[in-house]
Parts: sequence; structure tokens; C-alpha cells
Amino acid sequence: MRVLTVIGNRPQFIKASAVSSRLRAVAEEVTVHTGQHYDAALSQVFFDELELPPPEHLLGIGGGTNTAQTARMLAALEPLLNDLGPDAVLVYGDTNSTLAGALAAVQAGVPVAHVEAGMRSFDRAMPEEVNRVVTDHLATLLLVPSQTAVDNLTRESVAGTVELVGDVMVDVAQLLQPGARARTETLVPYDVQPGGYLLATAHRAGNVDDPARLEQLVELLLALPVPTIFPLHPRTRARLDDAGLLQRVQEAPLLRLAPPLGYLDFTALLCNAQAVVTDSGGVQKEAYLAGVPCVTMRPSTEWVETVEAGWNVLVDLDAADALAALQRTPPAERPQLYGDGRAGQRVADALLTLG
Ligand code: UDP
Repeated sequence: MRVLTVIGNRPQFIKASAVSSRLRAVAEEVTVHTGQHYDAALSQVFFDELELPPPEHLLGIGGGTNTAQTARMLAALEPLLNDLGPDAVLVYGDTNSTLAGALAAVQAGVPVAHVEAGMRSFDRAMPEEVNRVVTDHLATLLLVPSQTAVDNLTRESVAGTVELVGDVMVDVAQLLQPGARARTETLVPYDVQPGGYLLATAHRAGNVDDPARLEQLVELLLALPVPTIFPLHPRTRARLDDAGLLQRVQEAPLLRLAPPLGYLDFTALLCNAQAVVTDSGGVQKEAYLAGVPCVTMRPSTEWVETVEAGWNVLVDLDAADALAALQRTPPAERPQLYGDGRAGQRVADALLTLG
């Protein structure tokens, strides 16, 4: 059986690392990297650190609007699908690469398996939400991380088969968080102690593309009362620069800027942080898994269980709410929300049913 895996951005490389070796043990996997994230700090480092096999095909399609990028990916994937004739196409998450992979496959008559299916923020203004919904309605096999996702898909009456496999990022976190926690040397350049700092990330279009929202985001970060390590996503750096806000962030006494980090350094900083302040989907979940409280700079989340469990607070861009959330003591309980760390194997097994 031949599976064509379509990936293209940072969290997809991390998710694919939980599946790829297992899939390659039972089937032929051919990977195509769309080029959505082309910066080495957002791409190559994850192939190296997570032992993800190098992609067989590189499309080199980055930049442009969502529509233009997705269209270029579709045009490039069509001949590749015709040449390779895969039995299934595997896509992850909610990016332009996810949607393009799924749509090109369906139009070529190839069944689609979607990992991380069924997640919903119920905010159609997010490009990711649109990508998720459309991909789920194209997929033959919907591999979901949680019961909430099963319920979302049942409500939407999707046509494909839904299988609760758990979250593939849990596999990676379970494997690498214990070692990363011990890598306290990663903290040294930032002049912080374990438990004595915050870790912040921000890159959602809704927060950084609108200059007024970006300014609010900066105000929130400047209001944080303890040293805060802020690895800057290239998109965020560019928007801060365009808005004339980069210098303010660079000169803020408590903000410690960093380049985008590899998974091991980032996870070391995450596991040792007092709390995380983020608009990332993956980071909300990883903070929960590490037992680190999370403050989410969004009005909604698809990872609702982390909020219900009391470990994650949605504050949008309200600085006062963020400060109040950081004062909260996390609950004693931290139930297993997203599976047992063996989702990658279940994904590989489920794919064989499409062969
Ligand atoms: N991450 C990383 N280095 C960083 C920031 C994030 O390795 O400097 C990892 C993080 O551990 C998580 C993933 O990237 O696994 C989240 O990706 P991102 O926030 O870009 O995407 P989202 O999850 O919001 O789609």
C-alpha cells in the first residue's frame, strides 16, 4: 500500500513524526513538503530533531495569500498524484497544505485520511477553522483526538468513518518532555530559573495581521510581571516591524526575545515555565501535558477540554484578564484528555483499511 503524506508547516512536522516511522513499518509512505514553512527554523530543525524522514518531494510553495497559496498547491499536487498513484493521501491539522492535499486527492479519486479531524473553534473568521471543516467533509477516514471531536463530527453528519485514536502530539510530548524538562541549560542564556518565568508565543493571523490587535497583543505582553521568553515567529516579527512595534518589544525590560526554537529547546522552556501565554493550538495542549498553566490569547479554542479542566484560561487580548488568570492556582487534577501516547500506531493501523 502506498500512502502520500502532505505536510508543510511546523506543527505538521511534529505530528507526522509520531506516525511516519510506524506507517513506514507497514506500508510505503511518500512524503511531500509543500513549502508552506520554508525557513530552516520552522522546518529542517524538526526533521533533524524528531528523526522525520526527509520528504521525497518538495513543492517550494510558500508566501502569498491563503487563496493563492492553496491554489498553487492544488496545481502542483495534481500531477504528483497522477504520477505516484497512491492508495491514500494523509493530511494533518488545519493548514492550507491540509486543505490542498485533501481536495487534490479527492479530485484524483484517492481517499483521504485526516489526522486531528473534528476540532472546532466555531470561529469561521479563522482560516484554520475553514480548512478543518472542509477537509473533514472531504475525508474518507477521520482520525480524531478526543470525544469532543467525535461529537462535533456526528453533529455535522460527515460522510467518512470516524475513529477516536487520541492525539499524535501526545505521543511526541510523552516521549520528549521528560528529557526536555531536565535540559535546564537551555534557560541559561535567558537568565531565568525554573518556575521563575513565562513562555509566550503568538502568530495567529487574527492577532498579528491587524495592526490594532497587534498593538493590544504587545500591550498585554508588556504588562506581564515576570521575565517572559518570547520566541518570535517570522510572521510576527515581520508584522511588528511593519507596525513600528519591534523596537518596543526588543527594549522591554522583562521580555526576552528569541528566534523560533527547535522542539527540544522550546519544550525545555515550556516544561520549566511558571505558565505559558500563547495563541497557538499545539502549545495549549503541550502546556497541559507538561502540567504548566496556560493563558490563551484568543476568544475561543478548539482544545476546550484544557479550559474545562481548569488549566487553560481564554483571555483574548485583555491584559487585565491575562494578569488575573496568571494569579490562579491550577487544579490538583490533570486527567488524561487526549489519549495514551499511542495515537501514531493507531493512525498507521487505520490507514491500512484504505489499502
Ligand atoms: N514550537 C517550537 N518552537 C517554537 C514555538 C513552537 O518547536 O519556537 C512547537 C510547539 O512545541 C508545538 C508547535 O510548535 O508543538 C506549535 O506550532 P504553532 O504554534 O506554530 O502552530 P499551531 O499549533 O498554533 O497550529
